[in-house]
Amino acid sequence: MKILITGGCGFIGSNFIHHLFKKDNIEVINVDKLTYASNLENLKQFQKFKNYHFIESDICDTNKMLNTLREHNPDVIVNFAAETHVDRSIDSPKEFINSNIIGTFNLLSCTTTYLKETRNDNFKFIQISTDEVFGSLGTSGYFTEESSYLPTSPYSASKASSDHLARSWFHTYGFPVIISNCSNNFGPYQFPEKLIPLMIANSIDERPLPIYGNGQNIRDWLYVEDHCDAIFKLISHSNPGKTYNIGGNNEKSNLDIVMTICEILNEKIPRKNGETYEDLVSFVEDRPGHDFRYAIDSSKIQNELSWTPKFSFRSALETTINWYLNNEKWWRDIQKNRYSQERLGRL
Ligand code: NAD
Repeated sequence: MKILITGGCGFIGSNFIHHLFKKDNIEVINVDKLTYASNLENLKQFQKFKNYHFIESDICDTNKMLNTLREHNPDVIVNFAAETHVDRSIDSPKEFINSNIIGTFNLLSCTTTYLKETRNDNFKFIQISTDEVFGSLGTSGYFTEESSYLPTSPYSASKASSDHLARSWFHTYGFPVIISNCSNNFGPYQFPEKLIPLMIANSIDERPLPIYGNGQNIRDWLYVEDHCDAIFKLISHSNPGKTYNIGGNNEKSNLDIVMTICEILNEKIPRKNGETYEDLVSFVEDRPGHDFRYAIDSSKIQNELSWTPKFSFRSALETTINWYLNNEKWWRDIQKNRYSQERLGRL
């Protein structure tokens, strides 16, 4: 199977390529623009593989995308490429419009042309999206595949637009797209602007642990390996036109997450001054328009495709913390060159 991944040098894309290379008979074509969020280090071990091809390109580049499709002839496209950080979408929404909306439109158009030429009846296009498109929940209830879209940030609005385009391509052109809306992921290779790696890195450096507002905002957390497993199920077992919600059934407030990280680090690397990591917690001004709660009902993918999350939150978080402890150079290089833990997305 030839799988073209867009955004394969980012967090989930890299983990997905690692996931694919544990399987047999897979060829990977990775198309990435190499934005600030990408990292070629994540995939260094595959560089010389005959069944791995890296193409540096923006998914908005029509000629390059069409040529890549014609040259490599993929059976599947998994579209991860996107601008992904809500805080950055508050500071500079334009990049989100370009990559997430125009980029997805261009990819759908180029793939439509490619499919007219190749007539591959088994082709699938997997559009990777987020639960953030549904907006915010109150204290109860879950997002299902029937929930209305109600995005509230420039990031979620741009992802909602790309989902709408993808769905319209199925209804109008019979284009073989499958959409997944997944909850918050965590794991290795996540850029250290996101909550979990930011808190781990700041703790290691004994810097303040900034928590937005009162820390009570709730997300449904999923270990990235479980997400990768779900995406592979979409490739191997789902049908065009379908949409699936993916989540860990694992709701945690931001404060809970930070407290658990502190607890694990207190045991692993106690602070030399006798204080705890919890003492570093600092409540800061909230994110503008911060959604209160996301929670996913993933019974459809569980029932139809026999997918369930395999990792427990606590052990996956420990694995993640160990990864950041053992790969300090990876995130220190990012801090030196691209992101020095400054606050983003403040009006
Ligand atoms: P990331 O920010 O870590 O990586 C994004 C990758 O896409 C980078 O390698 C970047 O260089 C590439 N990219 C960006 N714009 C591009 C363009 N125009 N052309 C080609 N490449 C481009 O993102 P992530 O966290 O791995 O998320 C991947 C996908 O999964 C996104 O579509 C995101 O919306 C979705 N998603 C993420 C989460 C999460 O918790 N991280 C949850 C649900 C869905």
